[in-house]
Amino acid sequence: GRAVPPLAALSWVLRLERSRRTGIVFPLQKLERYLSPGTDTARFRLFQPGLAALQRAEALFRSDRGHPIDYVSSAVRMDHAPPPALPEVCFIGRSNVGKSSLIRALFSLAPEVEVRVSKSPGHTKKMNFFKVGKYFTLVDMPGYGYRAPQDFVEMVEAYLQERRNLKRTFLLVDGVVGLQKTDHIAVEMLEEFGIPYVMVLTKIDRASRGVLLKNVLEIQEFVKENTQGCFPQLFLVSSVEFSGVHLLRCFVAHVTGNLPAVEAS
Ligand code: GDP
Repeated sequence: GRAVPPLAALSWVLRLERSRRTGIVFPLQKLERYLSPGTDTARFRLFQPGLAALQRAEALFRSDRGHPIDYVSSAVRMDHAPPPALPEVCFIGRSNVGKSSLIRALFSLAPEVEVRVSKSPGHTKKMNFFKVGKYFTLVDMPGYGYRAPQDFVEMVEAYLQERRNLKRTFLLVDGVVGLQKTDHIAVEMLEEFGIPYVMVLTKIDRASRGVLLKNVLEIQEFVKENTQGCFPQLFLVSSVEFSGVHLLRCFVAHVTGNLPAVEAS
């Protein structure tokens, strides 16, 4: 397998000086200090696990002999999907939003896991299923574009509407460019289906602080005013610097029912 990048592991991040550490573990909190006084930041800290929970979640994403993390299968239709035996999360987003990079970052402590990409035009777009021990499954949904083919739309819609074990959908939005037309279409679909979802802002290392702040505030306002099913706290990630990746692992562990301590609080 590949080498594990140091920042993929909390033990490394904890060795950094405080401000950098906060930026990596809680990137949204790091932004807080640059907001004008009086800005409502209650939504910045709705999910704020302690170190024990972060470590527990990390253990789930670290494979070993007794805890395999594997690519299971791909499916183009719902009847090809593996049985809905475990709690499941899925990741969706526009092509190029950084979805495969993020899934690779999440699984970076299990370097044997291969996150496949099928990007070449004309290549069949599939749902890829990953199994994390006996705890949960993670689905990499095919990236969508503005003019998505009908069979693709039908596959994604069928999955989101029918998948009984789906606990949460992670909608990835590019942190540099903010919400695009196709993202709004995805939001409308998720709202129409009435399923719970979370927005994840990607590539935050690439956005200037000003751009990032603008996008975060705009999207937060949009979520507040226009959505029912979206978790009010945004998740910010960089797959290059591993910012937000540890927190996201923890949230995945939480929504799949694998973090009883956080659930109780
Ligand atoms: P996908 O089509 O959604 O799977 O997107 P990819 O993960 O392939 O990423 C698309 C492009 O964005 C690639 O060139 C990645 O290297 C780049 N990228 C993805 N995530 C990040 C990130 O967190 N930071 C930076 N700087 N680049 C990223």
